[in-house]
Amino acid sequence: MPRRQPLRQCPRCGFHTREKRCCGIDLAPGRFSMNPARIKFVRTLAHRQKGLDDEEYHRILAAVTDGRCESTKKIRRRRDFIALVDTLKGLPDVRRYERRAA
Ligand SMILES: [Zn+2]
Repeated sequence: MPRRQPLRQCPRCGFHTREKRCCGIDLAPGRFSMNPARIKFVRTLAHRQKGLDDEEYHRILAAVTDGRCESTKKIRRRRDFIALVDTLKGLPDVRRYERRAA
């Protein structure tokens, strides 16, 4: 049976709403999973824009997900994804994109 849309809290502004979107964030209910586009987005942001190496990135990933996710693909909660992206966006950009040794 379809139930009334629950109130959801926007992770960015904290507003409680029944809208599907707030602050450009998709709040729609449903199972969240990482897809190739999301994985690519996060990896580009972390490694190219912010210059993190794998170790730094995984430390941040573990911190924002309370250790639930040891890899990007294992993110299963929308709020973990949003928290990760917001945390990464808060880091300073590298001055220029540099290739790092893998
Ligand atoms: Zn909002």
